[in-house]
Amino acid sequence: MRGLLLVLSGPSGAGKGTVCRVLRQRLPHLGYSVSATTRPPRPGEKDGENYFFLKREEFLALLEEGAFLEWAEVYGNLYGTPRRPVEEALAGGQDIILEIDTQGAAQVKKHYPDGVFIFVIPPTFKELEERIRRRGTETPEVIATRLGWVENELQQMDLYDYVVVNDVVESAVAKIEAIITAEKCRTARFKAYWQQPFWHKEARSGEPPVHR
Ligand code: 5GP
Repeated sequence: MRGLLLVLSGPSGAGKGTVCRVLRQRLPHLGYSVSATTRPPRPGEKDGENYFFLKREEFLALLEEGAFLEWAEVYGNLYGTPRRPVEEALAGGQDIILEIDTQGAAQVKKHYPDGVFIFVIPPTFKELEERIRRRGTETPEVIATRLGWVENELQQMDLYDYVVVNDVVESAVAKIEAIITAEKCRTARFKAYWQQPFWHKEARSGEPPVHR
C-alpha cells in the first residue's frame, strides 16, 4: 500500500509543533520529514532532529541540485523539504508528515494532489496572539513580523482538505488520527485490486491485496 502524504500547516502559534510531536508519539510508524533551514537553532534544538541547520550557501547549492521537494522563505529564512526521504517513504508504503508553511504546501499539492492537507488553527484570534507572545524565544521585532504574517497565512486555508482547531492538544491529535483512518478507506485506494477480473493472477494468488 502506498503511504499517505500528510501536510500540516497553520499560522505561527497554532501549536503545529506540539500537535505533530504528540501525533508521532501516538503513531510511531508515521515518518516525519526533517526540513532544512538557514534559521539558527533555538535553545534545545538538535541538528538532524528538529531541522538540518544549513548555511545559506549550502541551502542554495542543494536547491540548485533539485534536492528539495518544495522550499520557501519564511521570516527571512529559507526552509525546504528534502525530496528523497519523502519519495522513499511513500514508495515503501510508509505514511509521512510534513510540517511546512502554506507556500510550501501549495508546491507539494502540485506534485502530490492525493496528499492530505491539514490546517491547524488555534481556537481564537486572541489565543493566537497570546501564544505567539508567550513563546518568548523571539525578539519583539520577530513577534511583530509573525503577527503580520499570520493574517496572510489564514487566507490560504482554502488549499487544505481539513481544518483542525487546536484547543486541547489531545483532541486535535485524535482528530488527525481520525482523518488518517478515513483517508485510508478512500475508494481510490481499493479499486486497482478489487476491480480486476477474478481470473487475474493477483486476484487468484491468495496474497493480501496491495491497496495503492
Ligand atoms: P520555525 O522557524 O518556527 O520552526 O518555522 C517557521 C515556519 O516555517 C513554520 O510555519 C513552519 O511550518 C515552516 N517550515 C518549517 N519547515 C519548512 C519547510 O521545509 N518548508 C516550508 N515551506 N516551510 C517550513
